[in-house]
Amino acid sequence: MALSLRHVADQLFSEVRLAKEKHGHLTDEILSALHFVFHQPLVHALDLVDQKNVTKLTTPGGRVLYQVVGSSNQLYNCLITGNFCTCPSYTFTVLVKMDSLMCKHLLAVHLAEALGECRTRDITDEDFVAYMCYDSVTDNTKN
Ligand SMILES: [Zn+2]
Repeated sequence: MALSLRHVADQLFSEVRLAKEKHGHLTDEILSALHFVFHQPLVHALDLVDQKNVTKLTTPGGRVLYQVVGSSNQLYNCLITGNFCTCPSYTFTVLVKMDSLMCKHLLAVHLAEALGECRTRDITDEDFVAYMCYDSVTDNTKN
């Protein structure tokens, strides 16, 4: 079930991208479909995208890490390829209980990518390693 839901989610993210290209915004149809799949976290994720809380960090070698400033100003690291986030909600609902596909931060990353709303920042490979291994010391990215 998780696999097919993942497929539906990927399909939806492509449609978000298309809608943005075609209409410049999300259509009601896509919003309802997103809500049907993701429920409540969708609203929070869209807020995070609106507030430009998603930053895409890229190394010269092409490694990519996303950082999302959560609702309580906490910074979370997300990997879009591995579908991973460092927040407690991800650990509990996705990893442990397996009753969600992704947390609101990951969802925000996917939506921000599809909508072209990511802030971007170049980082070094050393930064990448530091962010991945010691995420508690990465609060220097707040503007
Ligand atoms: Zn998260």
